Amino acid sequence: MTLSAQPVASHYIDGAYVEDTSGAEIPVIFAATGERIATLHAATPALIERALAAAERAQRDWAKLTGRERGRILLRAAEIMRSRNEELSQLETLDTGKPIQETRVADATSGADAFEYFGGLAGSLTGEHIPLGPDAFTYTIREPLGVCVGIGAWNYPTQIACWKGAPALACGNAMVFKPSEETPLCALKIAEILTEAGAPPGLYNVVQGRGDVGAALVTDPRVAKVSLTGSVPTGRKVYAAAADGMKHVTMELGGKSPLIVFDDADLENAVGGAILGNFYSTGQVCSNGTRVFVQSGIRERFLARLAERVAQATLGDPRDEATTIGPMVSARQRDIVLGYIEAGKSEGARLVTGGTPGDGPGWFVKPTVFADVTDDMTIAREEIFGPVMAVLGFDTEDEVIARANATEFGLSAGVFTTDLARAHRVIAQLNAGSCFINSYNDAPVEAPFGGVKLSGVGRENSKAAINHYSQMKSVFVRLGDVAAPF
Ligand code: NAD
Repeated sequence: MTLSAQPVASHYIDGAYVEDTSGAEIPVIFAATGERIATLHAATPALIERALAAAERAQRDWAKLTGRERGRILLRAAEIMRSRNEELSQLETLDTGKPIQETRVADATSGADAFEYFGGLAGSLTGEHIPLGPDAFTYTIREPLGVCVGIGAWNYPTQIACWKGAPALACGNAMVFKPSEETPLCALKIAEILTEAGAPPGLYNVVQGRGDVGAALVTDPRVAKVSLTGSVPTGRKVYAAAADGMKHVTMELGGKSPLIVFDDADLENAVGGAILGNFYSTGQVCSNGTRVFVQSGIRERFLARLAERVAQATLGDPRDEATTIGPMVSARQRDIVLGYIEAGKSEGARLVTGGTPGDGPGWFVKPTVFADVTDDMTIAREEIFGPVMAVLGFDTEDEVIARANATEFGLSAGVFTTDLARAHRVIAQLNAGSCFINSYNDAPVEAPFGGVKLSGVGRENSKAAINHYSQMKSVFVRLGDVAAPF
């Protein structure tokens, strides 16, 4: 069967699709079959210039609207996204290879949530009045930053485009968004939907390209803020480049998060949490709890039940509703994951299940569980970004807290226990930004999301994101006379 997901054009600039085939080719491959489903082209310097100029122009007028007027357009975008959920979910599946049963509930829906939440919030964004006695006061004005650049990773192309776009636009900014070159299709739809919802031309632009296009955007003096979702090495480069221009940044980077299962945990829920935290989106989730610490008294029962439930996973064509494990996004990522599996075996971890590529075409890796993993093993230290779970043992609470924190990352952490006092006590001591008790990987738009240590700076979602897309001007007002010395 021939598949096609060829968009109208590669880029969306100033309210319309734009093509320039002189840019480097970006093939889009359906990861389940290896078929090419679209061919896009990287933005040339001229197109980058057009996008930034359009954003700068659009932002000036957008900032003059009231928050409620801006919010109305975002709310309309949320509604359009929900009404087109099936089409957007199918595109997400083609773009990423993620199973349709996931994309129908996790991607365009999450994007719509962001537009709905920040659309609703837009009218209530205000400064404050600070009384300074009878003769003076200060008031603050919450101002937009200007032109914001969003740069996406490949695992959640729709969600990332919305999580960055919605708060940016709500605060009165414009955005130039560069999707990952691996999954360039979905963000174009977001730009198209925003136009349909009434966003002025140039407010939300999408330009395609690899790291060089991202770097050109980050270093442009017109850009006030950069929000990156990506790996730590890329984060370092982008943060450094942004620092040169003293730009605002949000960095959503990688992780190697701990998920701690105590003896008294509900076994089914703990196994379910570990499955969600390792195999959803075929393990390509930044916040995954890939170091699963299981206390000695429950460990063998946990592993036995885990193996039973993982055996029920259905690897297959992600367009099939029954499929629960799709392919890796690319051949390169599949090979990286298989390399980590080899490292796990050669360093002495016990393979419980999986450990091999899937059969047939496409870039599949079977869901893999290693037991008897020790802290020094490569699979316990490095982010794999694939369906590979490392199960480690522990005896005491203090021991597991120390070991869980012994990582350079700090994105997420989870605890499964029926002792809620212990749950809160342990979570309070874990160095991570997004934590879970008796659950894993929930990401409601109402809650802040982001990491500490090398996992990033800033927060997405929630009211916290407003502070990362706006700045305060403070205005001192004297009502009495000015007391000058001469
Ligand atoms: P990546 O770092 O390879 O690429 C991310 C984006 O940065 C891409 O769009 C890429 O083109 C761009 N880029 C690369 N070099 C650049 C440069 N010098 N200047 C500007 N842009 C540049 O990441 P990836 O492989 O696409 O995604 C996987 C990584 O993303 C994992 O580490 C994962 O943990 C992380 N991630 C984090 C979150 C989060 O919210 N914390 C979410 C999803 C993924």
